[in-house]
Amino acid sequence: MAESEKLTKNQALVLERLEAANSPLSAYELLDQLREEGIKAPLQIYRALEKLQAADLVHRLESLNSFVACAEPHCHAHEGLVAFAICENCGDVTEFVDAIVQSRLAEWSNKRDFVPSKTSLEIRGICAKCA
Ligand SMILES: [Zn+2]
Ligand SMILES: [Zn+2]
Repeated sequence: MAESEKLTKNQALVLERLEAANSPLSAYELLDQLREEGIKAPLQIYRALEKLQAADLVHRLESLNSFVACAEPHCHAHEGLVAFAICENCGDVTEFVDAIVQSRLAEWSNKRDFVPSKTSLEIRGICAKCA
């Protein structure tokens, strides 16, 4: 894929681990996994995560303070609101975009002259497999 060509080694390593993970990883879990690859400092992880988020290849889950690889890096418009359903049992994360929810929230903000800078929508619960 085109983006990976532009990634630094550390960014590629972080993205690789997130793509391989079955559940969200925190910066410290990433650091633990990548020590053997020569990444020693948390700052290296944070820098890589920052760039990957800016490139919309990785999302941060606010409620877990963890990160996931974008499920559809080429498909969904990241201008919009990306929502996540997080299974509290197996850690599975489903990423989705919902135009109606998004327009409702935009409407609310417009009506109240509220200027949103960031919206996060996370549903936590039990997935179909675990139910
Ligand atoms: Zn995404
Ligand atoms: Zn589950």
